[in-house]
Amino acid sequence: MTAGPAHDDADGLDLPALLLQRIRDVADYPKPGIVFKDIAPLLADHVAFAGAVDAIVAQHGRGTVDKVVGIEARGFILAAPVAYHMGAGFVPVRKQGKLPGPTLEATYALEYGEATLEVPADAFEAGDRVLVVDDVLATGGTVEAALGLVGRAGGTVVGISVLMELAFLSGRERLEQADGPRVHALLTV
Ligand code: AMP
Repeated sequence: MTAGPAHDDADGLDLPALLLQRIRDVADYPKPGIVFKDIAPLLADHVAFAGAVDAIVAQHGRGTVDKVVGIEARGFILAAPVAYHMGAGFVPVRKQGKLPGPTLEATYALEYGEATLEVPADAFEAGDRVLVVDDVLATGGTVEAALGLVGRAGGTVVGISVLMELAFLSGRERLEQADGPRVHALLTV
């Protein structure tokens, strides 16, 4: 398991180590064989939560995007404060049936079965620069679907940030093949 270079910032905070400490592994959830990365302890620690939000903002820079997309549900929690600090608007990408419409939909394959995500059809002005934020990048299918939705709705995805990347599932490579921008991950395991 790696948490990026071990170094302390000006406040003596080793952010990657703290984030790693605050993400709880839950074996066999929600299904046998899956190790669920529970970010609830991280969100409950104000230093870790603020550190993660600030680090995502620093990856891109205030004023560099017009909208920040959060993917339901844990992506919302990170994307909203990131949007606030970036000086950008927030746009939700939600599971099917949660938005009043009109919406655009994308259906994609999960490990078992499929899922559908939606975005408000009028979420973006033409050419809006968009940052997509989620908690965990696993196979990349969810973020890939979000990239497609943003493009169809008239936005241009200029950045992708996740708290944690599960490198063994190759989501990064999948998004490269989909011509997405480089993935920024605060932690890679
Ligand atoms: P994927 O589409 O395979 O990249 O899965 C990413 C989405 O599923 C994200 O929205 C995550 O919140 C969730 N997810 C997938 N795998 C995990 C995991 N091991 N722990 C926590 N969340 C996960």
